[in-house]
Amino acid sequence: MKKTIIILICTLCMTFGIFAQKGKKTIKGKLQHSAISEVLKEDGQDPICKMSVSKGSKRVSVYKGKQVGFCSVVCKEMFDKNPAKYTSHHH
Ligand SMILES: [Zn+2]
Repeated sequence: MKKTIIILICTLCMTFGIFAQKGKKTIKGKLQHSAISEVLKEDGQDPICKMSVSKGSKRVSVYKGKQVGFCSVVCKEMFDKNPAKYTSHHH
């Protein structure tokens, strides 16, 4: 009876260990990603909703070498799907 409990605990520990390792890896990956990902260097304007975006925002896309800041992830996603639509000034 005791053995089964120990085995159970061991299995739990192992699964937790594996999960913890996996978690650490993903966290590291995310950290690295966020280190690479840009931060808005200058105040800008959200091309989707025309709201002003203050510098330091992490919701940034780079399009044609220019930084584009967004008020929200929603706007960023919309832009990322079709950047040309929102950057062209020929109307
Ligand atoms: Zn917006």
